[in-house]
Amino acid sequence: MPQPRLLVATTNRGKLREIFDILENLPVTLLTLADYPDLPEPEETGTTFAQNARIKAQAYAAATGELTVAEDSGLEIDSLDDEPGVQSARFNGESYPEKFAVIEQMLADRGTDSSAARFVAALALVTPARVMWETTGIVEGRLRLPARGTSGFGYDPIFFYPPYGRVFAEVSPAEKTAVSHRGQAFRQLHNYLQRAFELTPHAQPPSIG
Ligand code: IMP
Repeated sequence: MPQPRLLVATTNRGKLREIFDILENLPVTLLTLADYPDLPEPEETGTTFAQNARIKAQAYAAATGELTVAEDSGLEIDSLDDEPGVQSARFNGESYPEKFAVIEQMLADRGTDSSAARFVAALALVTPARVMWETTGIVEGRLRLPARGTSGFGYDPIFFYPPYGRVFAEVSPAEKTAVSHRGQAFRQLHNYLQRAFELTPHAQPPSIG
């Protein structure tokens, strides 16, 4: 049987790196949107992460005919009524330092400089005909300003993870993926694909150092 093909439908390079790290030991041909340069981006009109994950996966599966996984994710800040939520990528401010400054001001307006917060990642696996499987991963932490660290992407410099005592931008990619919302969701996908397609993962190369 030819090995299954899976389109990982995201243009976010930070996400793509984390997702490939998890799926790379499966005998699956991984495709990206770079393999389909002229596809229009679907509008994310959903009000939940799960709805937007489905919208993206269904649009790209229909356009390409491929088994497709899409992910919608973001940061929910308790003291800001779960903002920025599904608007995380489009939230006030062009750059992340600007977004962090807006968040700091919004918290100050509410008389605080910190809050419980979580990252959420909803994932949808769809064929051109149907939704095959869905899941959600969540990691709980705290918002911590000012920003620090250089690793990761997006809101990682202000997301403090208490068990590590550091923000996500201060931990290694492997440490982040071991606990993150995306890590949880894509490890579940890994296990689902393994069962559904009866795949035997490749042996992992010995780690160096
Ligand atoms: P989406 O592409 O609409 O799903 O937007 C996701 C956005 O949520 C990203 O652009 C980031 O702003 C934020 N986000 C999601 N996951 C992470 C993460 O692991 N670290 C930091 N920011 C994240």
